[in-house]
Amino acid sequence: MSESRSVVVVGSGFGGLSSACYLADAGLDVTVLEKNDGLGGRASVLEADGFKFDMGPSWYLMPDVFERFFGHFGRDPSEFYDLERLDPHYRIFWKDGDSVDITGDRGEMRTLFESYESGAGDALDSYLDTSEEHYDVATEQFIYTDRPRLRDWVDLDVMRAAPIGLQLLGTMDDYVSKYFEHPKLKQIMQYTLVFLGGAPHNTPAIYNMMSHVDFNLGVYYPENGLASVVDACVEVGKDLGVEYVTDAEVAEIVNRREGFTVESVAGDFDADFVVSNADYAHTEQELLAEHERQYDEGYWEDRTYAPSAFLIYLGVEGDVEPLEHHTLVLPTDWDGHFEQIFDDPGWPEDPAYYLCVPSKTDDDVAPEDHSNLFALVPVASGLDDTEEVRTWYRDLVLEDIAENTGVDLRDRIVFEETFSVSEFAERYNSANGTALGLAHTLRQTALFRPPHRSSACPGLYFTGSYTTPGIGVPMCLVSGEHTASTLLDDAA
Ligand SMILES: Cc1cc2nc3c(=O)[nH]c(=O)nc-3n(C[C@H](O)[C@H](O)[C@H](O)COP(=O)(O)OP(=O)(O)OC[C@H]3O[C@@H](n4cnc5c(N)ncnc54)[C@H](O)[C@@H]3O)c2cc1C
Repeated sequence: MSESRSVVVVGSGFGGLSSACYLADAGLDVTVLEKNDGLGGRASVLEADGFKFDMGPSWYLMPDVFERFFGHFGRDPSEFYDLERLDPHYRIFWKDGDSVDITGDRGEMRTLFESYESGAGDALDSYLDTSEEHYDVATEQFIYTDRPRLRDWVDLDVMRAAPIGLQLLGTMDDYVSKYFEHPKLKQIMQYTLVFLGGAPHNTPAIYNMMSHVDFNLGVYYPENGLASVVDACVEVGKDLGVEYVTDAEVAEIVNRREGFTVESVAGDFDADFVVSNADYAHTEQELLAEHERQYDEGYWEDRTYAPSAFLIYLGVEGDVEPLEHHTLVLPTDWDGHFEQIFDDPGWPEDPAYYLCVPSKTDDDVAPEDHSNLFALVPVASGLDDTEEVRTWYRDLVLEDIAENTGVDLRDRIVFEETFSVSEFAERYNSANGTALGLAHTLRQTALFRPPHRSSACPGLYFTGSYTTPGIGVPMCLVSGEHTASTLLDDAA
């Protein structure tokens, strides 16, 4: 690739950081323009009063994908950060007083499952073995291999994988019910869908492979949090010559036919190609001339958006036993919560939520004798989050934590900040304030997600969670690779 070819990457989420590295490695001049004052997109950092919070992702899953990414550049994650495997992976408190620890010890897990349902130990083995097979097929055939067109699906490997694929077009609800009857066991196998922005009734069964990720591959913590993965990607990019410009919100991508001018608050940047990592809907609707958009307003209105979130970042005095690094608090019946996300949007009064306490593992993220944590409640995107609603909801969540985990945080909070639908919209230009993008419903999975290459604006490409393979840090790293190789193929 001639060194004079240039590309502007709009947005510095993992998809943007990843594509920037691959493109620079292929010899392009790459400039990343980021709206906010820090890099990393939804993996931003909040630092205040000696507390350090990962504002977005906090579960480091699928370590193989990170190794693959850094390995492409002759590097290894261990050059940048130490990884600690968490034990337990996480703790669950049910609101009926019951609690369990999920660990990587299969024997322990068999006994746990058997204690809820006779035969569930064997069912767990069978479920996880199958989910490992599905993971292996899916990573090779559908994650690492990009198949944007229908004809890409007609090849021998896909045909071989087809029987698996067809079985897995049903819902996760139906799939899990074939193995387990006890509602709590079903919840354990289904909670990972929240990572994909979906619910058991609208997510295809292929995502049972997330249980292989969860139980078999393990849950890790990178020293200093997910922010250190952002720093590592940026360091790799800098070594390859990528330039990063923060506080550079892009207002317009102007297609001049012989190239692009990307107009930002930090100035205009000319480039031969543009990769947008900003939310797809925002890029198409706000940054492009109407005739260069692939989709009309109706398309975006018709999408199923992944949930937004109500987050409370808290710095508190003392420790927070018995919370673990990752803790889930679940009502025994969570259908109501999912209904209020997808079918009848509203603030869940009996929420299922997640608590993250990195100071359990890392001394550097909170002052001595203090803990840092955040609570994350998935809520419908597009909800109205007025000051009044937020105050009510904040109180409800803190009360719920006290009641169901025994940890009353309310009289020892020294730092507090909430983040919800309107901040997702303002900070990340996110459609409807979705936290994650497009949910992985059947009609928004694989080739049904918006493409990496714009069909309406030659030279423009997209990357990140709206595209394939989809939501989550590992997926966005892979998405950056696919976007870069699509661009490089076109440019060759
Ligand atoms: C609260 C939360 C928890 C999560 N937990 C996990 C987890 O534990 N594990 C996991 O793997 N994943 C998790 N995820 C999902 C994961 O973080 C995302 O899927 C991933 O980080 C998205 O990356 P992306 O490439 O799509 O870019 P994004 O992170 O969406 O970044 C897009 C960037 O574009 C910028 N931008 C937007 N408009 C413009 C513009 N006009 N000009 C310039 N820049 C612009 C934005 O500011 C942003 O920086 C979580 C997400 C959230 C929000």
